[in-house]
Amino acid sequence: MKFYEYKAHEIFRKYDIPVPRGVLAANPEDLVDPPLPCVVKAQVLVGGRGKAGGVKFASTLAEARDAASAILGIPIGPYTVKQVYAQEMLDIAQELYLSITIDRSARAPLLMASALGGVEIETVPEDELFRMHIPPLAGLQPYVLRALVKKLALPKEIAAKVSDIARKAYDLFRREDAELVEINPLAVLRDGRVIAGDAKLVVDDNAEYRHPDYAELDQDRTPLEEEAHDKGITFIQLDGDIGVIANGAGLTMATLDVLGLKGGRGGTFLDLGGTDDPEKVKQAFEILLKAKPSVIFLNIFGGITKADTVAIGAEEALKEFETKVPVVARIKGVNEKRAKEILADAGMHSVEDLEEGAELAVKLRGPH
Ligand code: GDP
Ligand code: MN
Repeated sequence: MKFYEYKAHEIFRKYDIPVPRGVLAANPEDLVDPPLPCVVKAQVLVGGRGKAGGVKFASTLAEARDAASAILGIPIGPYTVKQVYAQEMLDIAQELYLSITIDRSARAPLLMASALGGVEIETVPEDELFRMHIPPLAGLQPYVLRALVKKLALPKEIAAKVSDIARKAYDLFRREDAELVEINPLAVLRDGRVIAGDAKLVVDDNAEYRHPDYAELDQDRTPLEEEAHDKGITFIQLDGDIGVIANGAGLTMATLDVLGLKGGRGGTFLDLGGTDDPEKVKQAFEILLKAKPSVIFLNIFGGITKADTVAIGAEEALKEFETKVPVVARIKGVNEKRAKEILADAGMHSVEDLEEGAELAVKLRGPH
């Protein structure tokens, strides 16, 4: 779950991390009483908004509205800007960088910081970067913060404020089950205050059940993705036209890749996971068909999953939803012989291997 900046700021406020005041707007006219002067910022789920024209400065209401109308509707990365956040302009003396992520190989949270903030962290030279793991049981100990402020060569007063923000950010990171908390810039103002100028927050999807109030935040799902999510189905819409049903994240990704190599494009994909419940398979087809694919490629490896049970679900789905969409099926594993008979009887194209299946799927989708 990625959070929009304004939403992340709301959560930062709960943890007493200083953030600028701001107002959200979906139309320029919605800006009535923005803090002035202000920075009008595109609310999208990617960084680099500044470079993409999504950050503009304004000193009057009219300028703020002009900035909003210039930003609303522009593309930034894969998104179109639907909302802007007009936030209090900060009088920045220095831009720092601060983040906490999980370093899976070290099995510990990783605290990173730099005195060269404001730019993408990937462009900061390694020797300008502070990195230290936070022992998960001990938590963020004072020695880590001392090392941080020393590396960034911060004066005493600023050091105390940055340490305090880092401590609160780590508290937030743990309590909110975050995968990433990133503040870039962490702005040191001319008057000595230190404020989170920008905020990136990603919360672990697997912890969603612990944060029921975040559920409505997934503004990023398409309506079909939402429907699938409610049914507990892993389903993603892409911009191609071939519907893919596979099982397991690895096989699903490999299927999309091979389709790509053969000149096709996955339009939607659905990961059946470990299920072979015919009812679930039927639901999977139902969702997939709503996305109107030109062909469906079913690629199943039956280990725990039984091939014939999946085939029965597919057969029932085709009958019930009376679809003319061609289905290419490659099913391997337990009871595959029986599965192939069921598929053939139901008029599906049964194939032996992934490449052959991908080629056939691309052929059957017709000219594009
Ligand atoms: P990003 O490009 O998506 O990371 O968006 P940011 O919110 O980080 O803004 C990009 C850059 O704009 C910052 O690094 C700052 O240099 C500048 N900026 C943003 N807000 C302010 C502000 O209130 N005052 C000043 N002086 N600069 C700002
Ligand atoms: Mn930024």
